[in-house]
Amino acid sequence: MATPANRTSGHLRDAPSVGPTSVVETSCPLDCPDACSLAVTVRSGRVINIDGSHKNPVTEGFICAKVRKFGERVYGPDRILHPAIRKGRKGEGRFKRVLWDEALELIADTFRNTKAAAGGASILPFSYGGSNGLLTQDNLDAQLWRRFGTSRLARTVCAAPTGAANMALYGKMPSVTFQDYPEAALIILWGVNPSASGIHLVPYVREAQKRGAKLVVVDPRTTALGRAADVHLAVKPGTDVAVALAIHRHLFTTGHADEAFLGSHTHGADRLRERAEPWTIERAAEVAGIEAAALERVARFYAERSPALIRCGWGLERNRNGGNAAMAVLALPAVGGKFGVRGGGYAMSNSASWGLDNTWIDSPEPETRLVNMNHLGRALTEYDDPPVKLLFVYNCNPAATIPDQRRVIRGLEREDLFTVVFEQVMTDTALYADVVLPATTFLEGYDFAKAYGPIYLDLARPVIDAVGEARSNADVFGELGTRLGLLGEDEPKGELDLVVRVLDALPETIGEDLRAGARPSPPFGTAPVQFVDVFPNTPDRKVDLFPAALESSAPIGLYRFQPDPANERYPLALISPASDRTISSTLGELPRPDVKLLMHPGDAEARGLAEGDLVRVFNDLGEVHCPLNVAAAIRRGTVSLPKGLWRRSTRNGATATALVPDALTDLGGGACFNDARVQVASLATA
Ligand code: SF4
Repeated sequence: MATPANRTSGHLRDAPSVGPTSVVETSCPLDCPDACSLAVTVRSGRVINIDGSHKNPVTEGFICAKVRKFGERVYGPDRILHPAIRKGRKGEGRFKRVLWDEALELIADTFRNTKAAAGGASILPFSYGGSNGLLTQDNLDAQLWRRFGTSRLARTVCAAPTGAANMALYGKMPSVTFQDYPEAALIILWGVNPSASGIHLVPYVREAQKRGAKLVVVDPRTTALGRAADVHLAVKPGTDVAVALAIHRHLFTTGHADEAFLGSHTHGADRLRERAEPWTIERAAEVAGIEAAALERVARFYAERSPALIRCGWGLERNRNGGNAAMAVLALPAVGGKFGVRGGGYAMSNSASWGLDNTWIDSPEPETRLVNMNHLGRALTEYDDPPVKLLFVYNCNPAATIPDQRRVIRGLEREDLFTVVFEQVMTDTALYADVVLPATTFLEGYDFAKAYGPIYLDLARPVIDAVGEARSNADVFGELGTRLGLLGEDEPKGELDLVVRVLDALPETIGEDLRAGARPSPPFGTAPVQFVDVFPNTPDRKVDLFPAALESSAPIGLYRFQPDPANERYPLALISPASDRTISSTLGELPRPDVKLLMHPGDAEARGLAEGDLVRVFNDLGEVHCPLNVAAAIRRGTVSLPKGLWRRSTRNGATATALVPDALTDLGGGACFNDARVQVASLATA
């Protein structure tokens, strides 16, 4: 057997045409705001169709094209069907099939030996949002790592700066939900493209427009909603903070700041006002590379229209100023007095809205080494106190998604590193594994799907049996915990135990509703009005507009702007936004049309490039080879490659992350994907 991946049981299109057919209800727990309710058609034990249902009212019976094709992952040629041990060189992808028992015993032995030789901190668990289900992450896995005393992982590749800002300002107060968007008279979509990621928001935005709402889109690209917007601010990546501060200044200087609200519900407004003062409309527009008149129009809209809603996305956080950008954007409704009405306020992640604090993990977090996941390359190649000797990867594909790809891969190539990859399909990272373990997909087990857009929680049920010998995260982490002697007799050791434990640990009515197959609701309902039904989860329920801790942790303080890192050699900003093909990098294994670099016609002409040319996109960290797409759908000076590409998607096996420095954002330790500065040249002339 060459690889466990090449043993396929066929594609969705090979599904049986006869046999008993049923439709099974479940929910999508993937890393997407919507958590759709699904109706999955199964014939003779195989998935033949995946569609939306109506249990989650936001799903409205439709789902994205990505999950419609999920069967191609379940039954596709890349699916890992058996445990396997490396036979060839790292990266080569040659493995030998073994029994589960053999693989788990080898892993447990290596855990013990590694800890004995170099300490628990030499073991690095590495995971991110391959699934957002409550069983697949931060559950028995977290308990295992804590009890064994491994290094801890700061899971900061996404949402860390916006999360830090939302926490500091509002204690992650629940957001305005989709159903209330049509109530707004102004919607600002800032750094978010729901047409690609979170499609169920789009009809609500369109409905608001039909009812007369103005729409503003802030994005360096012209997205579908950008085209439909009243104002599209195609800002330079990394300049959102300046734009938001100019709107603050406009509010303060034109008498549109809500002084009564600031006086009774906030702290720190004076300090914010001080920091906003230098940001005139003209200065911010110049820094952001946009028309001053367009920015002024947006500032006026925001000052004068109500209810006004800002949907803060994650595009604005992926740069050196990302934390401050999120602070400045999220502070706007407090300064403008936009709370207290349906359809007014802000919307961000609603992931914390249920107040579930993972009480099912009953082990305290040890004070072991904390590794920022954006520094994986450094951790594998430079850390020596102790060096990382064992890497356990699950729910993610760091060889494709973590900054400084070359260094990450150099680290994965280390012969003295023992790498376990527990995955559904043969990812770029799995090719470097010493042991590969097959994981179930969400269609093959139980999970709790929690939306972070709408307020929705569901118990997702298995639709089909596990494919091949795949096992669930809960089963595997329970088994490893048992082998390492870390689980008490009465503790959950697998998926079914864990479903019961989580149901028992959830607040009473929520657990009961889920058991009954009903839709649970948090105490404040599913469409709260900010500052009416919900308030900041801060100690005094006020908004802290100038949190001292963040002022001292940000490199040059709060509401400050760090200049663009471009230079003469690398003048172009490379962004890598979400696409309509993958959910983060999930489904990146599926065939897709040629991946192209998007470039403005003016930039192409200046370099003598034309549509379809093969180009190299390069900087000192690496280079990516791919065809060129020349279109005015992106601002001049910025180029774009899709997020979540696998290495097979480009001509030279490198993705956008090969060009991204592993610098961290000003707040939250996030990834600076949009601080990649590059040059582009024809591959023919290179
Ligand atoms: S990825 Fe998002 S839009 Fe697609 S099915 Fe899952 S929740 Fe729905």
